[in-house]
Amino acid sequence: MRAKREEGSTDRLLRAAGVQPTPKRIAVFAELMREPDDVTAQTLHGRLRKRGERLGLATVYRTLQTFAEAGLVDTFSHNPGEVCYRRCGDEHHHHLVCSRCHRVVEVAECGLDGWLARVSANHGFVATGHRLEIDGLCGACR
Ligand SMILES: [Zn+2]
Ligand SMILES: [Zn+2]
Ligand SMILES: [Zn+2]
Repeated sequence: MRAKREEGSTDRLLRAAGVQPTPKRIAVFAELMREPDDVTAQTLHGRLRKRGERLGLATVYRTLQTFAEAGLVDTFSHNPGEVCYRRCGDEHHHHLVCSRCHRVVEVAECGLDGWLARVSANHGFVATGHRLEIDGLCGACR
């Protein structure tokens, strides 16, 4: 379980990604690791406040943005008007996202390389990466 990673490793993880590990950033990251699925900045902010952390919503937004830019978290656009965030594994993966309960499944297999190379070449394009978010309903919500 990712949520049970030992304390102190967050510090190293942030540094390795080029993010200065301030106490606020560590608190936001730790809270994010407790969530197995994805979460909005607002929800995360609410949880942090309940835990007694004194940080504003704007700080949480900014921190999540910093994490996303550093590649530490993935962002999801399935929620209209609100970006969702999730701490995922570092290996290449895709997402199955339940539109009802926000359950996120990390899928490790990627069968897109051949198709991508073909489609890109057809347009004189060189693909350097891709992201795939598959919307749908999970087993419990179907
Ligand atoms: Zn992910
Ligand atoms: Zn669901
Ligand atoms: Zn892929």
